[in-house]
Amino acid sequence: MILSLNDLDLNDRRVLVRVDFNVPLDETGTITDDTRIMESLPTIRYIIDHGGLAILMSHLGRPKGKVNPKYSLTPVAERLSSLLDQPVYFAKDCIGAKAEEVVQSRTSGEVVLLENLRFYPEEEANDTEFAAKLAQSGDIYINDAFGTAHRAHASTEAIAHCFNEKGAGFLLQKELKYLGEALSKPERPFVAILGGSKVSGKIDVIKELLTKCDSILIGGGMMFTFYKAMGLEIGNSLLEKDKVSLASELIAEAKEIGVEVILPGDTIVGDSFSNDANYKNVEVHHIKEGWMGMDIGKRTIDEFSRIILNARTIVWNGPMGVFEMPNFAVGTKAIAEALVGATRLGATTIIGGGDSAAAISQFHLEKQVTHVSTGGGASLEFLEGKVLPGVKALEV
Ligand code: AMP
Repeated sequence: MILSLNDLDLNDRRVLVRVDFNVPLDETGTITDDTRIMESLPTIRYIIDHGGLAILMSHLGRPKGKVNPKYSLTPVAERLSSLLDQPVYFAKDCIGAKAEEVVQSRTSGEVVLLENLRFYPEEEANDTEFAAKLAQSGDIYINDAFGTAHRAHASTEAIAHCFNEKGAGFLLQKELKYLGEALSKPERPFVAILGGSKVSGKIDVIKELLTKCDSILIGGGMMFTFYKAMGLEIGNSLLEKDKVSLASELIAEAKEIGVEVILPGDTIVGDSFSNDANYKNVEVHHIKEGWMGMDIGKRTIDEFSRIILNARTIVWNGPMGVFEMPNFAVGTKAIAEALVGATRLGATTIIGGGDSAAAISQFHLEKQVTHVSTGGGASLEFLEGKVLPGVKALEV
């Protein structure tokens, strides 16, 4: 069982929270997108409103185990303070005397932020001694960082074993609810849409979803490896030669289980990998040498949209085309719009993190679907049916 904040008595307790404040910064150290900070506010506010002292810890960037002022969480403390409209007391270290001094001088209803966890190599090494030192700052441990829950790090895994009282923050709880319920008790039809560049990154997801979904729609660069497996010519389209036989196996497996795997009937081909390329809509068996598939075609958009609008649970991971280039973002946008339509019809629509989350926010549709995951790698591993170490360690 995993407890939530509501199950714990936080009054007069030091609540140590692993948050994900890994925000993008520009060259001057200014935060360019504070979504991750905003998303942690409900958990922080709940703790301070219930008499707890919130002690927050996070990583930022890749300082590779060394102190590097470029990756200091100082700007995050400032932004968080203005969002909360109260002081955020910053400790210049995440362990030791500097952390202790700040934590001990603060009290109920206040907020402390510890310095970047990854200034220590022990963090990513899941070092138990380092975890024990971190644990000294809190009486209760809360993990609210879904984006790193698939990694066994000191602040996500080892540390949880130092506490009897521990649980999930609201953000993590929401992720587990939507992703978990979609996989364990989906309302049917349950449709998965998979795209992105490579089959290799999605093999385990496809295998897992084959056992759960009614249909799987495949788009993106990975569709061409499937077409190669079916003996089609794919011109200069993206191909993972070493995955062709695996693609054949997956198609055979789907047939055996009776799950529909639907590949695009038409595609937008370009004569170079550029937004300025000449392009045209062709049937997939008419891809000529010198042309490469860059997006799903018009007929496919209609077919996929119809299936999506009839579904009751939809999970989407990976763009349908090279959505970073406006001329080849049409398919991805149309699928995002179909998901919005399905949501309006009462379906549960879930967007895996990473590129699909980036795509849906590029189209400003992120508020019109049921759930956009905050973790790319973590949501992928969840969909692969893996137990995330940061989640498992919270079990009581
Ligand atoms: P992934 O990281 O595997 O989810 O792939 C995401 C990337 O796939 C995005 O950057 C897209 O531009 C890329 N992508 C999608 N469709 C295609 C395509 N047909 N050819 C090449 N790259 C693609």
